[in-house]
Amino acid sequence: MANVRLENIKRRFNNVTAIEDITFEIPDGEFWVLVGPSGCGKSTILRTIAGLENATSGNLYIGETLVNNVPARQRDVAMVFQNYALYPHMSVGENIAFGMKMRKMEPRVIQQRVAEVAASLSLEHLLDRKPKQLSGGQQQRVALGRAIARQAQVFLLDEPLSNLDAQLRDDTRAELKQLHQNLRNTTVYVTHDQVEAMTLADKIVVLSQGNIQQIGDPQTIYNHP
Ligand code: ADP
Ligand code: ADP
Repeated sequence: MANVRLENIKRRFNNVTAIEDITFEIPDGEFWVLVGPSGCGKSTILRTIAGLENATSGNLYIGETLVNNVPARQRDVAMVFQNYALYPHMSVGENIAFGMKMRKMEPRVIQQRVAEVAASLSLEHLLDRKPKQLSGGQQQRVALGRAIARQAQVFLLDEPLSNLDAQLRDDTRAELKQLHQNLRNTTVYVTHDQVEAMTLADKIVVLSQGNIQQIGDPQTIYNHP
């Protein structure tokens, strides 16, 4: 079980309050979307769950575990960034394998898992290429593959489609929905795009200046503002 629970999470940078007082609990397996204007704290919430930021105060639980002091690499979390953040000197296959190598899994197991993940994302024919030899959409699929391969219970995605053109965005959005139906990872997803929020979300969290303005299902949020 990997429900994600934030209790009164606050993050200040010197005199800037990035998030003020955030409390919510995502049940195991649900897909939650964070929306709100630029600067309202969406990325800070994701980065805090990932362990890339430390909360100034408050408690964060993944499953039953209080993870406030657990470093990022020991959290059962995989993150996908807006700019993909692939390792430029590694091939596609090595990028997908990276998290498993870090955890010292057996080479034979890693190889098999890379093949499975590549097949599920139609990347088989690209395994030997470097990221710069790929299109944006292909790079984003590699970033997703790297996250999936880790078999993390929690997925964090920070505007993963915003650098793709319209057609690719539609295709990849559908692919993400299918992936979630198969994997059922607890997911937190940041976007500015109402269509993405409507199609993907179990629940939408509307943020404003570091606080929660509203939490609801897509119909409630967009039909009764
Ligand atoms: P969003 O993702 O919604 O655009 P962010 O979480 O990136 O918002 O930022 C929330 C607020 O915190 C903004 O005012 C931003 O400038 C500030 N902030 C974020 N990261 C830092 C940082 N490392 N240092 C100082 N201020 C930061
Ligand atoms: P986005 O709005 O797409 O989330 P930003 O450009 O706001 O991205 O932030 C990119 C990075 O810069 C993040 O790691 C964030 O923590 C950091 N950052 C954002 N605002 C500030 C700031 N005012 N001072 C220092 N770092 C910041």
